[in-house]
Amino acid sequence: MTSPDLLRLFIAGEWTQASDGATLDVHDPADSQCVARVACATRSDVERAVASAVRGFARWQATPARERSAMLDAAAERLQQRADDVARLITREQGKPLAEAHSEIRGSIEVIRWFAEEGRRVYGRVIAPRHAHTVQMAVREPVGPVAAFTPWNYPVSQAVRKVAAALAAGCSVILKGAEEAPSSVVALVEAFIDAGLPPDVLNLLFGRPADISAFLIPHPSMRAVTFTGSTAVGKQLAALAGAHMKRVTMELGGHAPAIVCADADVDHAARMLAEHKFHNAGQSCIAPTRILVEAAVFDAFCARFVEKTNSLRVGRGTDEGVTMGPLANARRVTAMRRLTDDALLVGARLLCGGEQLPGTGAFWQPTVLANVPAGAAAMNEEPFGPLALVNRFDTLDDAVAEANRLPYGLAAYAFTRSQRKASELGSRIAAGMVTINEYGLAYAEVPFNGIKDSGFGSEGGTEALESFLNTKFISHRQL
Ligand code: NAD
Repeated sequence: MTSPDLLRLFIAGEWTQASDGATLDVHDPADSQCVARVACATRSDVERAVASAVRGFARWQATPARERSAMLDAAAERLQQRADDVARLITREQGKPLAEAHSEIRGSIEVIRWFAEEGRRVYGRVIAPRHAHTVQMAVREPVGPVAAFTPWNYPVSQAVRKVAAALAAGCSVILKGAEEAPSSVVALVEAFIDAGLPPDVLNLLFGRPADISAFLIPHPSMRAVTFTGSTAVGKQLAALAGAHMKRVTMELGGHAPAIVCADADVDHAARMLAEHKFHNAGQSCIAPTRILVEAAVFDAFCARFVEKTNSLRVGRGTDEGVTMGPLANARRVTAMRRLTDDALLVGARLLCGGEQLPGTGAFWQPTVLANVPAGAAAMNEEPFGPLALVNRFDTLDDAVAEANRLPYGLAAYAFTRSQRKASELGSRIAAGMVTINEYGLAYAEVPFNGIKDSGFGSEGGTEALESFLNTKFISHRQL
């Protein structure tokens, strides 16, 4: 057996071990084997990363947008060339099927290329002055060094959304990548470095997330914080950032409702919702979770949804034909068991799944529960796993009330052939993203953001650059 890879930090333009040599183990969730060790940054490593990001900012801010754009494009090209290897690293450590890992990389390349373009279009404006011989301008400036915290569910694309937007805006970045799936994050940073990104502009840390955020967020040199993860952690980090007046983007939890009206194409809705529910084994903040189906088509919908769910092939992500991999870690299996058992205890009906698969991997069957009482834990807590909840509704008002019941407001879905209902649902559902009769989310050019407890600040489209830009007013009266 070969010894596990040793993954290093990237600080001040060099790949380096932690100053005390400490590492964390990285496991393959398909069999729990240790496949790599990742350096665990010390306080002094983090301090060095801050000093580097300060130097990097001075340099990168002064680099013309056209050159920054060319470097981002070159990084996208490098990632493209290495896509097969990087996809295997994602699957090895996060578990998703190889085809999904490839799709994550394709999406990431698109995002880098899109921000490479959009970074060239950060314009200010000239404002009509009140006095003669005066020029008034609102100019956009990069906010400064950015601390970016990214999770394990999409280790590359979650990092890319932050890094590409911040770099395109002219900021330097300290990326704190996912310790549970670090190899592909290392490969991503290598793509930027090999593309010619100057040293200091991008630093990469792994370690104890709470220690790193507690140091980086209050640090006076860090000017913005961007975090993707749970609402509970996001609230802590946003509070810390608020205490130190830092700009914040928070991409947090969701509990997406999907409303299926009786006049919808029920077959299409069932197929699409099953496909997106179980994508990445449900470990996605925008996964449809509370599926609300109008009474007249409830049975037909359930039959089709369960049929589609049962057609999934669960197994190791590198195996041919597998369409759902293991969960990314044992914590998610524990959560699936707790949420399923609790729902059944309070009266939900099990339509399929509900069991862990035998063996040492973190495999949980794709699970569908129906008639789940609103008090069940799963109806209130983000499952973040392959657990779908299907309930019936009688009136559109009831469906909207249920959709808006939770403090979350990230993604929401609706299916109807009625133009009137579509526009009513589009405006009445309280969420940052609503799509009707299609999935259509997370493209590079469209906003990606939540409201309420799901966070604030966008990670897609032109809006994503806003998080990393200040507006400065300059007035110049010519004498
Ligand atoms: P968790 O809440 O401890 O961690 C979630 C993420 O936040 C991880 O990436 C972790 O490294 C990071 N994190 C945790 N504490 C931190 C801190 N003090 N400072 C900086 N970063 C910190 O638990 P978990 O078991 O990894 O995930 C559980 C829940 O997190 C999931 O059920 C899901 O709700 C949420 N989550 C959401 C996303 C998303 O895409 N929005 C991604 C991963 C996890």
